[in-house]
Amino acid sequence: MNTYKYVAVIGIDGMGNFNSQTDTPNLDKIFEKGAVAWSAVSQNPTISAQNWGAMLLGATPLVHKLTNGSISNEHYLNEALPSVFKRIRETDPDCYLASVCNWNPINHGIVEEGIGVEKLTADNDRELVPLIISCVNKKPKFLFVQLDDVDGAGHSGGYGTEHHYEEIRRADGYTGEIYEAYKLAGILDETLFIVISDHGGVRNGHGGYTDTEKYVFMGISGKGVQENFITYAETRDIAAIVLSALGLSVPEYDEEGFTSQIPEGIWEGTKPYYRKPVERPLVPVRETPGNIFDFIDKDKVKLLMHLDNSLEDISGKCNIKEKGTVKFYSNGVNSACGEFGKTGFCVTDGVSFGENSFTVAFWVETDNTITEVPALMGNQDWSWQNRNKKGLTVALRSNDIVFNISNGNDHIDTAVPFPEGTDRGFLHYIAAFDRENKEIRFYNNFNLRHIISIPDDFLISYDTNYPFVVGNDGKGVYNNVSHDFIFHLDDVLITSFAFNEETTENLRKYYFDK
Ligand SMILES: [Zn+2]
Repeated sequence: MNTYKYVAVIGIDGMGNFNSQTDTPNLDKIFEKGAVAWSAVSQNPTISAQNWGAMLLGATPLVHKLTNGSISNEHYLNEALPSVFKRIRETDPDCYLASVCNWNPINHGIVEEGIGVEKLTADNDRELVPLIISCVNKKPKFLFVQLDDVDGAGHSGGYGTEHHYEEIRRADGYTGEIYEAYKLAGILDETLFIVISDHGGVRNGHGGYTDTEKYVFMGISGKGVQENFITYAETRDIAAIVLSALGLSVPEYDEEGFTSQIPEGIWEGTKPYYRKPVERPLVPVRETPGNIFDFIDKDKVKLLMHLDNSLEDISGKCNIKEKGTVKFYSNGVNSACGEFGKTGFCVTDGVSFGENSFTVAFWVETDNTITEVPALMGNQDWSWQNRNKKGLTVALRSNDIVFNISNGNDHIDTAVPFPEGTDRGFLHYIAAFDRENKEIRFYNNFNLRHIISIPDDFLISYDTNYPFVVGNDGKGVYNNVSHDFIFHLDDVLITSFAFNEETTENLRKYYFDK
């Protein structure tokens, strides 16, 4: 096989292989004589962090454990599994390396700090292109680019729609501009040029493992690359391709670590691809169990958001306003779930608590990466100096969920730790405020976990001047301004009665009994 002085990976987020459905003259031209996979396989779940992480680290999501939340919050510190940037840097202390990403969490939480990688970002792909070109002019030994607007178009207008294709055509144009820059810099002949997507999508989301979510385009072009179809490749193979193209050794295949390989069909004489099916735990619970209102009294539901590619309150009681963008992923409970936090949340207009008992229930996906206390939902200003102001907030931490009620003078925080063995996946949470029995009952996964009694001066109305907000605090500020949180919620339910053993068991049946 050939080696190259330069390698460029242009990542087009959320394109899948939908470029086969629209005009992409630049991609066609660039890969005319290259090696192309139309059904390279994305890692499960088909989510950005899991797949960009797989590409840059050469490992499965089960091994690297990165999530959209974790890379937004934390720098990448795992020295046992360095990124390709770090592996290159270790062999070449002086070369120029650049990572230019519209979605900055990649720069923040996958590419290590302090290893001399120029990291750039911009608000949209159009503004990113001149930054990319300025990097190309500095002749990067390795350039990684992530374009994000194609994924945005999929989330907002649907994957495989004209709206999505239009953005793919734009990304094709940007890719052409970048390719041209390599030509103008006089280094194209010595460059291996790669275009790949991290995942596709279905309806308005992704995260599941259907064909349009998991199959992605991978194109490879450069001197010595065979004009060929690659029959099998995975997103995580990018690491091995990059390292070997630069003449660096590719780490041994290690089930607990680096499992990136060079797909057959790119260069002559590469080793056969070693394929071992990897067992992965499936996060969602099971298929659609029927109508939830057969299990709970619809008249006593104040809000129910199934979050199946829509922010609608299916109880029909509230109007819901989206702030920013709530993204949908198809690996929720029964169907899709919603991604909330820094990038989007929603404001309801009909949830009041008055002098009644009530219940707040939802599924939340946990991955132990939340280091602070983002507000999952509530009607209170969650900035810490205002936590004695009246209202309630449910907040998430790495190992528990905090339920805060404040009566205006004082507050009660009740943290219910995740059940033993919960380190990732969806967890069901219920907080039942029972005015008659003067107690709050907490359930996890439909089991009673904790009871606290309510002092008399907390038997007040919890309505505030703020609306009830899902995905942020009542003020709609905490998660997006002070903090960088992202989390997944499903089936958000508010009722005007306090769940007890019997109603909790009914809800469990809705999810689990055939
Ligand atoms: Zn993505």
